[in-house]
Amino acid sequence: MMRIPFIAGNWKMNKTAKESIEFVHAVSNKLPDPTVVESAVAAPAIVLQSMVEAAKNSPLRIVGENCFYENNGAYTGEISPAVLKEIGVNYVILGHSERRLYFHESDELINKKVLAAIENNLKPIVCCDETMGRQAAGDKIHWVVSQIMADLRGLTEEQMKTVTVAYEPSWAIGTGQSASSDQADEGCYLIRQTIADVYSDELADHIRVLYGGSVNPENIAEIMAKPNIDGVLVGNASLEAESFIQLANYQ
Ligand code: PGA
Repeated sequence: MMRIPFIAGNWKMNKTAKESIEFVHAVSNKLPDPTVVESAVAAPAIVLQSMVEAAKNSPLRIVGENCFYENNGAYTGEISPAVLKEIGVNYVILGHSERRLYFHESDELINKKVLAAIENNLKPIVCCDETMGRQAAGDKIHWVVSQIMADLRGLTEEQMKTVTVAYEPSWAIGTGQSASSDQADEGCYLIRQTIADVYSDELADHIRVLYGGSVNPENIAEIMAKPNIDGVLVGNASLEAESFIQLANYQ
């Protein structure tokens, strides 16, 4: 099964509305054909609609950084998955380690969000983190496996086909200290193996597993050369248009 490489930027809360649109215009016609490499950027909800419009004639996909698990109701300040879909967003990041750390998101909450996103035809990019302490304690396998199983609990094999998983060791995020390509490959392998054990080899072969944590234009080629890594989720190095263009054209 041929998995199309997926290069996704995650801007977090780092750009103004004006800068976001300027970026889309700057990269629009410099990205690879999406049947060869799919490129995407995740931005705050407030700028997504204008980014979707600006990216209309570009292969660039626009991604939400979060959504809630209800489509409407008395949830002041929340982001409806139905509205994300309505404005033309196709993917949404869920369970990023910053959401877990600063907004206290539990696996149970993330699982509800994943299900709601899929019900609204949004494709979730589900992040699985790993702390330095756990890695040092040799607890990596247990942690990564139990987290991913909790976040994806109750999904059918058909629903799983819409999911992308990202392995993101917290100690590598925003630190400039990427995992080695072997460590990154091992984490992605673990996730794929868990999917094979819980579902099927066929599904494990179908699903894209990304690595995230201090990826940049210099280290992307080595990371992408690994057999279990189908793409990257990039924070800092996705902010500048030139850098993002290099990442997307890593081949
Ligand atoms: P980074 O962030 O590339 O700045 O390490 C990655 C992420 O948080 O997804």
